[in-house]
Amino acid sequence: MRFDVLTLFPEIFSGYVSQSLLSKAIENGLVQIDLHDIRKWTLDKHQRVDDRPYGGGPGMVMQVEPVVECVEAVQKTGENPGNLIMLTPTGKPLNQRLVEELVQCPRHILLCGRYEGFDQRVVDILNPQEISIGDYILNGGEVGAMALIDSMIRLVPGVLGDEQSSQDDSFSTGNRLLEFPHYTRPRDFRGRTVPEVLLSGDHGAIAQWRQEQSLQRTRERREDLL
Ligand code: SAM
Repeated sequence: MRFDVLTLFPEIFSGYVSQSLLSKAIENGLVQIDLHDIRKWTLDKHQRVDDRPYGGGPGMVMQVEPVVECVEAVQKTGENPGNLIMLTPTGKPLNQRLVEELVQCPRHILLCGRYEGFDQRVVDILNPQEISIGDYILNGGEVGAMALIDSMIRLVPGVLGDEQSSQDDSFSTGNRLLEFPHYTRPRDFRGRTVPEVLLSGDHGAIAQWRQEQSLQRTRERREDLL
């Protein structure tokens, strides 16, 4: 799976791409991440990519020209132009179902905004898929792009050690519920012990306990999922 990230701050991604699961996936050729600095596409001699909003008001707006030029150039760098995604709080809310849909496409171009966001003509011309990572405002789209990449690569075959792990995850297809609680060693910590059933070796009983825990958690915390 290939990701092209278009941003004014490519350096934000350096720590992220070198972390364990992702860096292994990159090393094994399962994931490719190419970073592109939108500023390289500005014709402004001061390297500006933003300007004041028409109609007045606070903040700056990302200009249409460098963004469209950058996207079009990046789209040409592969056999497949990829799925263009704009990170924006006004987009479709991201959830696991959407992640499962997105992962069907082998290439994604992620457009990260800054300031007040993009000139509307970026959307009108390029028709990106507009995605929000939640009902709150971030300073830029980079954290959203990382959230998207992180959620998608878990579903790329070979990235996780055990594929079952992503199938059991909360919200996943086949498990629309919240996941059950996990325990590992030690068996006893400050008098808090691991539930006996998990030590029983009885796989049927363990599966049933986990299913009950999942249901109980979901009922208590996220009734909307039921
Ligand atoms: N003025 C915009 C609004 O009220 O909708 C917010 C702009 S925000 C400060 C700057 C950039 O951060 C956006 O262009 C977008 O790329 C990114 N961003 C902020 N919140 C986001 C969210 N919830 N989901 C995805 N991207 C977000």
